[in-house]
Amino acid sequence: MPLRAKVASSVSRTAAALSRAAGRGDGSVIGGWIGLKIDPELLAHLSAGRAIALVSGTNGKTTTTRLAAAAVSALGKVATNSFGANMPTGHTSALAKAGSTPYAVLEVDEHYLAQVIEATDPHVVALLNLSRDQLDRAKEVAMMAQLWRAALARHPDVRIVANADDPMVVWAATPPATHDQRITPPHVTWFSAGQRWHDDSWVCPECGSTIQRSGEQWWCTGCPLRRPDPQWTVDDEGVLDPTGAWYKVKLQLPGKVNVGNAATALAVAAEFGVRPFDAVPRLADVTSVAGRYAQVVRDGRTVRLLLAKNPASWLEAFDMADEAPTLLSINARDPDGLDTSWLFDVDFAPLRGRQVLITGDRAYDLAVRLDVNDVPFQHVRTFDEAVRAVPPGRLEVIANYTAFQDIRAELDRVN
Ligand SMILES: [Zn+2]
Repeated sequence: MPLRAKVASSVSRTAAALSRAAGRGDGSVIGGWIGLKIDPELLAHLSAGRAIALVSGTNGKTTTTRLAAAAVSALGKVATNSFGANMPTGHTSALAKAGSTPYAVLEVDEHYLAQVIEATDPHVVALLNLSRDQLDRAKEVAMMAQLWRAALARHPDVRIVANADDPMVVWAATPPATHDQRITPPHVTWFSAGQRWHDDSWVCPECGSTIQRSGEQWWCTGCPLRRPDPQWTVDDEGVLDPTGAWYKVKLQLPGKVNVGNAATALAVAAEFGVRPFDAVPRLADVTSVAGRYAQVVRDGRTVRLLLAKNPASWLEAFDMADEAPTLLSINARDPDGLDTSWLFDVDFAPLRGRQVLITGDRAYDLAVRLDVNDVPFQHVRTFDEAVRAVPPGRLEVIANYTAFQDIRAELDRVN
């Protein structure tokens, strides 16, 4: 590395360590920020010489990144931004902290994917899904797909691992029509991880016609865009690889959604030459991911934390949660987005028949929504009150970002 990059990297590590010592989080944002101030090319310098995978999408990227890093570790040391700091400051900090590693698997905020592809020159990019998120400030889904598509078209050498079930992702991974035969088509590996949420992909991003669905197939009624045949699929608690071999996937993470994330991770690792046979046992070592899915016993209740931050992830959380008393918590602070109208995009009917409790800064927004959906509920002011309101046994907690952090902090204080 150039001298300036070495200094920047060293200062970045020191700043992150100081921030941690001062109890201000994991320090990855401030460390990366200072490093990039000293050397604006620091991320590119730290990326040089590493084989890198980027993982992006609206949902599932933290978990998939963790699983992919575990899978790639079959080959050697892997740098990763495991605390979910998924912007260039976080990537810079993660690579500086890891020192020299042959591999890196980085979670990337979908808005920054183009920029991070430019800086890191990745070997593979995994595209998980695109759906509405943070209505007051995020880009429209179709705009995001367009940004991805343009970024990938500039890098036809990058290998793409993409979700065949999401029309927006398929379109983003497919290069714009061209008459220039010299341009080689990109290398795309398709996986099927399912798409429970369809409400952001009824309109074809290519031609504006409607998209039709039947079973797992989908196709545009006005142009050739349709679901490609996936090479990696999920089947009966296991994953089928492109040769048709089936691997039982035993995870410590709940839900079919996470088996899909595991399939994605195996497809990413395969791009580095990792065989599923070697990768699968490593997936079983992943327990909670930045506190998500963590289980804590408190006063005879086994509390499990599920993070859900937008309509698609709420549907997935309902699927992961057991049929047990469930606490829902909603805040609308800056990291959550200030607009809670998306609550009306989610069908809460799957919660009928469970004991439902609500809390959080915007519990009353939830109350209105549940009332409209005919789901009985009880309002509690504190997490403690929620624990006392349910019988001993399982308590599922589904919360959006800062509400999740609040409950996690509360649990950490006691345990
Ligand atoms: Zn179309």
